[in-house]
Amino acid sequence: MKAQPPASHFIDGEYVEDINGAAFDSIYPATGEVIARLHAATPAIVDKAIASAKRAQGEWAAMSPTARGRILKRAADIMRARNRELSELETLDTGKPIQETIVADPTSGADAFEFFGGVAAAALNGDYIPLGGDFAFTKRVPLGVCVGIGAWNYPQQIACWKGAPALISGNAMVFKPSENTPLGALKIAEILFEAGLPKGLYNVIQGDRSTGPLLVNHKDVAKVSLTGSVETGRKVAGAAASQLKHVTMELGGKSPLIVFDDADLESAIGGAMLGNFYSTGQVCSNGTRVFVQKGIKQKFLSRLKERTEKIIIGDPMVEETQLGPMVSRAQLDKVFAYIEKGKAEGATLLTGGGIPNDVPAEGTYIQPTVFADVTDAMTIAREEIFGPVMCVLDFDNEDEVIARANGTEFGLSAGVFTSDLTRAHRVVDRLEAGTLWINTYNLAPVEVPFGGSKQSGFGRENSLAALNHYTELKSVYVAMSPVQSPY
Ligand code: NAD
Repeated sequence: MKAQPPASHFIDGEYVEDINGAAFDSIYPATGEVIARLHAATPAIVDKAIASAKRAQGEWAAMSPTARGRILKRAADIMRARNRELSELETLDTGKPIQETIVADPTSGADAFEFFGGVAAAALNGDYIPLGGDFAFTKRVPLGVCVGIGAWNYPQQIACWKGAPALISGNAMVFKPSENTPLGALKIAEILFEAGLPKGLYNVIQGDRSTGPLLVNHKDVAKVSLTGSVETGRKVAGAAASQLKHVTMELGGKSPLIVFDDADLESAIGGAMLGNFYSTGQVCSNGTRVFVQKGIKQKFLSRLKERTEKIIIGDPMVEETQLGPMVSRAQLDKVFAYIEKGKAEGATLLTGGGIPNDVPAEGTYIQPTVFADVTDAMTIAREEIFGPVMCVLDFDNEDEVIARANGTEFGLSAGVFTSDLTRAHRVVDRLEAGTLWINTYNLAPVEVPFGGSKQSGFGRENSLAALNHYTELKSVYVAMSPVQSPY
């Protein structure tokens, strides 16, 4: 299987190669095959991408939001028309099953272009402020050249979630995908160009953690939006802060999902499984600490085990497959090390924990894993594992579970399953997280702000709120009479 793009980078409306950059392989995680060979950006490529973005941005910002929106909506249509091809590429890039990518990846990217393309005409207006004769008005202006840096779990979605609000606001974007999943963003750039986006406004360059700082520190970059780990977030936000650049940080989590004993059990188990096993557990907002009230613990665990053991693991290109491999060998090893820690620290391994039968030896597969009897102090309950490992913890009452759920440095998401409506609202009010769900988990439609609090980051993606993070306000005071000066 090959997925070799014409060149490593997409700059100024065309594919660009520079073989002086370090070569790296793109690997299909299901088989270990090398599907493409690319080169990381050299400083010359970074400069070229940023210079092209800077050149293009002024004219783009001068266009009406409606005209900009028309191009984004056209890109959404192209993405939908090519959904199968883009989904297959996403599966090759990440190893996620086609059953998922066909409904969740290019489609959610297209949603972002459609949403921001559609709201632009109304959402970028300023205010008129009457001052009794004099008045003031505000203008929402773009920031300039914005940098997007992506993680490897949702490469196409991240490229679009950052690109759409940046572009509609009149900015240019230079996007660097994760070195593990370099392919999808190049296609997004191609499609935007095909939809009529002027060259230079969405450039993609490749590279790893040594390339990122070249972008973040570049003097012509006004803003950085990162999706990544907390550790990377600290470095990127620190570097950006030292130059007073705008940032959006979408970072990691260790989110609580609370199941009260009056919950619809099958629905709660379904939510917990989706919130731990979808995308082979590589989802930042996953509810990896599943707190189950003691009265339903045994029933919950036995149905969870039964349903988990029926998950179809295998070739991600086969429509029936429900769980694919992990993105890389390094990530797989990390997850296995956490499983060993869980066992060593005394958690009960309910199911999984090993390599599934009948999968290619070179594939990075792992069984969906559930630990029961997990306590708050265990490493697997405190650290983000970023794999299909669910920790089930028991609790007695509401106050106790809220205190324990909040006892983490993270604050990305949280969920509650209960049939008591007032309790549901009471609990979400007290949970410290940016994105919360009642009686469901992990749904993130483009209309709703998405993002974290505490160490999980700041800023919001999606919804009108994202526009605040890609624009700034200009206030203009207009005098209607001569200046009254005491001098
Ligand atoms: P990572 O932090 O290792 O890398 C993220 C990106 O940052 C990559 O493109 C990487 O090359 C780049 N990078 C690394 N060091 C850098 C530096 N010093 N300067 C600039 N760029 C740098 O994360 P990952 O392993 O790719 O992704 C997994 C992490 O992402 C998890 O912690 C997960 O929770 C988080 N994540 C968060 C969200 C969200 O929306 N909150 C979504 C997906 C993933």
